[in-house]
Amino acid sequence: MQTTTPLDIAKIREDFPILARPYKDRRLVYLDSAVSGLMPRAVNERIAYYQAFEHTNVHRGVSQLSQEATDRFEEAREKVRSFLNAPSNKQIIWTRGTTESINLVAQTYGRQHVHAGDEILLSAMEHHSNLVPWQLLAEERGAKLRVIPMNDAGELLLDNLEELITERTRILGVTQVSNVLGTINPVKEIIARAHAKGVPVLVDGAQAVPHMVVDVQDLDADFYVFSGHKLMGPTGIGVLYGKKEHLDAMPPWQGGGSMILSVSWEKTTFIGPPGKFEAGTPPIAQAIGLGAAIDYVRSLGLDLIAAHGHELLDYATARVRQIPGLRVIGEAKEKASVLSFVLEGVHPHDVGTILDYEGIVVRAGHHCAQPVMKRLNIPATTRASFACFNDRDDVDALVEGILKVKEIFG
Ligand code: PLP
Repeated sequence: MQTTTPLDIAKIREDFPILARPYKDRRLVYLDSAVSGLMPRAVNERIAYYQAFEHTNVHRGVSQLSQEATDRFEEAREKVRSFLNAPSNKQIIWTRGTTESINLVAQTYGRQHVHAGDEILLSAMEHHSNLVPWQLLAEERGAKLRVIPMNDAGELLLDNLEELITERTRILGVTQVSNVLGTINPVKEIIARAHAKGVPVLVDGAQAVPHMVVDVQDLDADFYVFSGHKLMGPTGIGVLYGKKEHLDAMPPWQGGGSMILSVSWEKTTFIGPPGKFEAGTPPIAQAIGLGAAIDYVRSLGLDLIAAHGHELLDYATARVRQIPGLRVIGEAKEKASVLSFVLEGVHPHDVGTILDYEGIVVRAGHHCAQPVMKRLNIPATTRASFACFNDRDDVDALVEGILKVKEIFG
């Protein structure tokens, strides 16, 4: 059944060939977009067209073919710039994904600014991607990680933020949307309060970009990162946005071709951003695919996608709450369409496996957020996440599937 948003879900479903494939002899119910978005046909076709007719290397070669490939590649960068409302496409750096973007910042900006005794402030609900790179840096530098705590509902406790930001804090890292709890964090406010104390902020937008309009200038984010595959683009491509003054001052990360001004045995000089951070042949088809994914979500309208997601989340939350023994994990007031739960007496892996027999794909586990599990005193959760192609039938199938799990486990 359709939601009340004007999106034509039946028509949208036709854009996703994978939804029509047989899966366990049933209709595929894909409730795992938080792990990776499905790719619409338009993205697949754009990548295939590039591979078939436009492909060669970029930013090198005098051929028309090379120039065309470079143009398509740079047009994709411009699409990302416009998507994030970044001031310049020189501030959009291609990476392999969110994880690589954060490692890049930790190993360049971080190494420049974090020294013995310094502090890195992270929120209690970070994905390992926005924790482990900082921990590695902290260990290397003799610095310390500090944590913004959260309550049992999965909301950050921000009353004492100014006390957590000390004169030793060198950077604050926070996710805009939690991949486990669905919490939408007030990143604009966090950034303003961090800036008031002179501390830059990196925002992990991996789970935010599929659900909301992001404006890095309005947020005033110092760094903003996301992955193409969470936005219905291909894997192997991600984005790092950075403020100009940071990117200009940061040293290169990896060395190689395409990022140099001049090389001699004595000394190498480098071009400016973004090239300075893009050594070697970049993921060209993937970047162009991400550009096509941005076109696709924009053609539907991110506001409508967000409204549809909220409606499905509300419907799903109300329905699963009626299931005895089920506890929703993540009850923040502001949530994106991510629904985690635990079922009394059944391990989430068993829930996920049985749902899969029923053709329902969800994620089960610690979701690369072990500190969140520890904080909430649970080993894992089962997580359903909703996208523009999901409808109420998918939620109903989930509820029936959970009831079947309960039947099996008595
Ligand atoms: N940050 C968040 C909030 C995520 O949900 C994920 C992936 O699930 C990541 C970072 C890591 O993304 P990737 O594996 O694409 O680098």
